[in-house]
Amino acid sequence: MMKYTTAMVTFEEIPTEVSLSISISNCQGRCAGCHSPELREDIGTELTDDKLDFLIETNRGVSCVLFLGEGKSIDSLKKAARRVRETHNLRVALYSGRDEMEDDLKMCFDYVKLGRYDARFGPINKVMTNQRLFFQDPEKGWRDITNLFWK
Ligand code: SF4
Repeated sequence: MMKYTTAMVTFEEIPTEVSLSISISNCQGRCAGCHSPELREDIGTELTDDKLDFLIETNRGVSCVLFLGEGKSIDSLKKAARRVRETHNLRVALYSGRDEMEDDLKMCFDYVKLGRYDARFGPINKVMTNQRLFFQDPEKGWRDITNLFWK
């Protein structure tokens, strides 16, 4: 089961997309200087298939659904990502707080942000950041597109 706290349309988190950004709780990360400690808690509403469909259908015009966090159930996350692609024909993105990710999970997404939050290096829109955003180009494979945040 996956729970979420908020869902809103954003323009900057994935610079090339208009995203429906869904904040997922039960984060298993423990980044020093975590900017959203409430997302480590078991809070929010269950993100059922019906709820995911509703959120997408009431935010028509988005090109991508972004999961802000992995939660604690990787199977639920994969299932939700598949639903975004297959039922709604949208691109799908994940902000992970981990430094590395299993290939089979990564392949469920068009965009993946990797790297724990480290206050010494700042968030992804800072040139010194340790975080990276990757795009799965259908022809060329994974490409690091972090520099789009710095323009
Ligand atoms: S990934 Fe890190 S910064 Fe983000 S909510 Fe989890 S612990 Fe906090």
